[in-house]
Amino acid sequence: MTAREVVVFAAENNCQMVDYKFLDFVGVWQHFSTPMSEFSEETFEEGIGFDGSSIRGWQPIHNSDMLLIPDPTTAKIDPFIKISTLSLICDVIDPITREGYSRDPRFIAKKAEAYLCSTGIADTANFGPEPEFFIFDDVRFNSTSNESFYSLDSVEGAWNTGREEFPNLGYKPRHKEGYFPCAPTDSFVDLRNEMVQVLQSVGMRIEASHHEVATGGQNEIDMRFDSLLHMGDTLQWFKYIVKNVAFRNGKTVTFMPKPLFGDNGSGMHCHQSLWKDGVNLFAGDGYGGLSKMAMYYIGGIMKHAKALCAFTNPSTNSYKRLVPGYEAPVNLAYSNRNRSASLRIPVTSNPKSKRIEYRTPDPSCNGYLAFAAQLMAGLDGIENKIDPGQPLDKDIYGLSPEELKDIPSVAGSLLEALQCLKADHAFLLKGDVFTEDVIEKWIEYKMEAEVDPVRMRPVPLEFQLYYDC
Ligand code: GLU
Ligand code: MG
Ligand code: MG
Repeated sequence: MTAREVVVFAAENNCQMVDYKFLDFVGVWQHFSTPMSEFSEETFEEGIGFDGSSIRGWQPIHNSDMLLIPDPTTAKIDPFIKISTLSLICDVIDPITREGYSRDPRFIAKKAEAYLCSTGIADTANFGPEPEFFIFDDVRFNSTSNESFYSLDSVEGAWNTGREEFPNLGYKPRHKEGYFPCAPTDSFVDLRNEMVQVLQSVGMRIEASHHEVATGGQNEIDMRFDSLLHMGDTLQWFKYIVKNVAFRNGKTVTFMPKPLFGDNGSGMHCHQSLWKDGVNLFAGDGYGGLSKMAMYYIGGIMKHAKALCAFTNPSTNSYKRLVPGYEAPVNLAYSNRNRSASLRIPVTSNPKSKRIEYRTPDPSCNGYLAFAAQLMAGLDGIENKIDPGQPLDKDIYGLSPEELKDIPSVAGSLLEALQCLKADHAFLLKGDVFTEDVIEKWIEYKMEAEVDPVRMRPVPLEFQLYYDC
């Protein structure tokens, strides 16, 4: 839609309010609203001012005035606000220079797409993320029977004592068997269907929906792939809709990667491919039906994987998921059809669908930053012809320490990921996609707001281990 068309669209839908949304540095959608009377075609030129110092990791207080410029192509009707409301995703710009703000994730995603085109390698990077999530009861609605906490205890009890110490809960998925018995064991069919319908109502193409492996209400809804920037926008709509549908049903949704000890965590595998003039450049006649270019792209991802973790797995909780035995990859290897490898090459019947699936990322990431960083690593692989080595077509979880010793692994903690990013980020700076300012601020913010506060707090298990010492 153009600016003019958005004004007509809003009038046709009798919109009374306009809601402006943007993604903060860390990856949480922010918004504010104005009455429709304050909105016109000029808003797309003039923008709306806001306080950039109140957003985590952004402007200092003495330089806090920033401007939001709504993108007319993102216009939708917000499905959750009672009064008919026009919703617009915004870019963040500096009001003095009128240039894009270096720490605006959407700006970084746009620059990544522009850099891709400038290389001549391809004109489109397609991303298909698979964000898994847990649905838990909202304790505000139902404080006496929180099944999620119950199943956590149940799992730990079973693991720790070897016997079931809790009542028979009936039709609960057995440990690691949530994928995918029918109802009533899958008790989320209606809720997921409601989510799917709202996702479709804002124009999203949904391919499938199912319960996932973990016992405590882990679910997945699969979206159709899209180009990098659009997929960044779509991922935010996805999280917003899934959370809000859960909330209006007395439930909550979490995208944190490992909410339950001893059960599968939530990944956000990223399927990706490069295209030029409508041709999929990853299809070829090499290993797994891949082209040489795709192999180099894999080489780039593997080379930079530890630094990439700072954006693809950016929470302290991310590293509680990246442990062996839970379908989350620990080792950096690529393989056809193999879910224990960090890079899987899905079997496809049509060469147009040829792609790689990077399984390390999780849904705590900022989508724009995580997609842009993966693309930059892959492009570095292509530009420098980085050989990914031999595939590893074995169950990596079953390998002995001796067999594993030469296989590199992903970062083991957020601290390690940030240290690796500090040492290895030249590949992100090409085309000014990520700037030194962004890398420095990201590391500083993550250290001060997350790594240190978590590191300094005693956790319950420490009392069990050390109370009697
Ligand atoms: N939940 C697993 C993960 O953490 C993935 C399961 C699957 O293959 O979909 O990555
Ligand atoms: Mg899954
Ligand atoms: Mg997958």
